[in-house]
Amino acid sequence: MGPSTSIQQAATAFIQSEVGVDAADIQITTTSGSDVHKVAYAKQQFNGIPVANAVAHVAFNNANKIVAFGSSFAKDAKAASPSPSVQVEDAIKTAQDTLKGTHESSFPIPGLEYWIQKDGSAALSHVIQVRNQTANTWYEAFVDAHSGDLISVVDFVAHATYRVLPIHKQVPTDGFETLVDPADPLASPEGWNGDLTRTLGNNAASYRSSLADTTGESDDNLTFVYDYNFNVPPDYENSTNVQFAEVNAFYVVNTMHDITYRYGFTESNYNFQNDNFGKGGDPGGDRVLVSVQDNGGYGDAFFITPPDGQSPTMSLELALVYNVPVAERDSALENDMIAHEFTHGVSNRMTGGGTGRCLQTLEAGGMGEGWSDAMADWTEQTADMKDWYFMTWVTNNPAGARTYPYSTSMTTNPLVYSNVSTVQQEVHYIGEVWANMLHNVHAALIEAHGFSTTANTNPDGTEGNIVWLHLFIDSFPIQPCQPTFVSARDAWIQADANRYNGANKCLLWKAFASRGLGPNAQNYTDDFSVPDGC
Ligand SMILES: [Zn+2]
Repeated sequence: MGPSTSIQQAATAFIQSEVGVDAADIQITTTSGSDVHKVAYAKQQFNGIPVANAVAHVAFNNANKIVAFGSSFAKDAKAASPSPSVQVEDAIKTAQDTLKGTHESSFPIPGLEYWIQKDGSAALSHVIQVRNQTANTWYEAFVDAHSGDLISVVDFVAHATYRVLPIHKQVPTDGFETLVDPADPLASPEGWNGDLTRTLGNNAASYRSSLADTTGESDDNLTFVYDYNFNVPPDYENSTNVQFAEVNAFYVVNTMHDITYRYGFTESNYNFQNDNFGKGGDPGGDRVLVSVQDNGGYGDAFFITPPDGQSPTMSLELALVYNVPVAERDSALENDMIAHEFTHGVSNRMTGGGTGRCLQTLEAGGMGEGWSDAMADWTEQTADMKDWYFMTWVTNNPAGARTYPYSTSMTTNPLVYSNVSTVQQEVHYIGEVWANMLHNVHAALIEAHGFSTTANTNPDGTEGNIVWLHLFIDSFPIQPCQPTFVSARDAWIQADANRYNGANKCLLWKAFASRGLGPNAQNYTDDFSVPDGC
C-alpha cells in the first residue's frame, strides 16, 4: 500500500466519522503534499455523481497525524433522481437567455452535478459555462435537470474594488468613493489587474519607490480599499497614506488608458500595454510605471515617454504648501495632474508614429503641455462648461498653477496666438495659450451639440464633448512631426473633415479665430478673421 493510498483511506475514514456519510458518497479528488504536510481533497457524491458545493479537505503532518480539516458536506441530503428529465439543449438555452451570454463551442461539454440547495436537498443539475465577451462576463450555470430552473451561478470574473477619487472629480475635497469593477471591458479585456493581485496590471503599475525599497499594494481579493488620513502629512520618510496614493494613481492611469483607448489610442496606435493581445503595434512590454510619493523632489510631476515598446514612467511628487496645518500634499490625489501627465504619453506617442521624438521644439513642447491641460480639463467638465483651474489641490490655491483659468471670456483669460512669442519662453506658458484655444473649441462644441454623461465609455454619440475628444485624438497622427499652432489647428480641421465630413468646420475656425488663430495667422501674428463662407 503506497502512502497516497493510505492517505486516501485515512481521509475517507476521517470524513466518514466526522460528517456521518457513507464511504461510498466520498470521492477523494486529489492529494497534494510538501516537505511538511500532505492534504487530501474530497467531494461528496450521490449515485456516483459529484456534488459541486460539498467539498472537504484533510491535512496530515509528516507523522501522518491529522492537523486540519474542513467540510461543506451535507448530512442526510435528499438527492433527486440521477436521470435528468430536462434535456441538456433546453438547459443551455435557459442559461444563455438568463445570463445573456453564449455557451461557446470551446467550453467543456455540460455535465451533471448535484447542487445542495438552501433547504438541504440535492438538486441534479446540468452545469453549463456561459460567456459574454462584450460585457466581460463568464459564468458557470447550474440548471435544475428536473425543474429546468437556473438554481445557481458561479461567477468566474474576479471583481476588483478600489477606493479612489472618481475621474470626474478633481481634488480630494470633492469626495472619495469605492468603485467596483471600474475597468472598461472593451479597453481592458482582462481587467486592470489581469491575474495579478497587486496594483500592477496590463496598463499600469503603481508603487512607491524610496531609497530603501519599492512597494506596491497587494490584495488576494482585489479589494484595494484604504483610508486617507488628512491629519497626517504624507512623507518621504514613512508610509503614511501611501496605500491610498498608489491605488488612486493606479485607478486614474487605468481610467485614462480606457478612455483614450475608446477614442483611438489603441495597440496599433502605440499605446501603453504590457500585452497587446496580438492587436498590433509593438510586442507590448510598455505599461505605465507610476511612482507615487516619488522622492525626486518637491512640487513636480513628470512623464517620460520612450518609443513604443518601452515603458514610460510617471513620477508624482509631494508638494509643500503653506498656511495649512498639514504642510505636504500628495499629487497622486490630484486627478487632473495625473490625467495631465498621462496625456503627455498620448501626444508624444501619437504624433509622428510612436517614436517619442516629435514634440521637441519649444513650440511643440509647449503645445504638449497644452494638450495635457486640455485633456485634464475635458475629464472634469460638465454640461455648463465652467471656467477651469488646473492643479488647485497641491498648490493649495483656488486659482491653480496657471496664469489664468481656462475660459471663453477674454476678460478672464486674454491669451491669444501672438502671446506665444510674448509670454515667458517656457513650455508651460506657451501651453496655456494652446490649452485655452482647445477649451474654447470644447465650449463651442458643447454649445452646438450638447453634452454626454457617458462619453468616457461611449464614443458613438453626437454630443460636443464626444466630438471634441475624437478630434483631439484623431488630430495627432495627421499633424506633422514638431507641429506648430498653425499646423495643429489644420489637423483639427482635417480631422473634422475625415470623421464628420466637415460638419464642424466653421465652428472650429470661429473658435480658433476668436483667439487669433484664423486662416492668415502666422509667425505669431494674430488673425481674428474666418474663411469665406463661415
Ligand atoms: Zn506637463
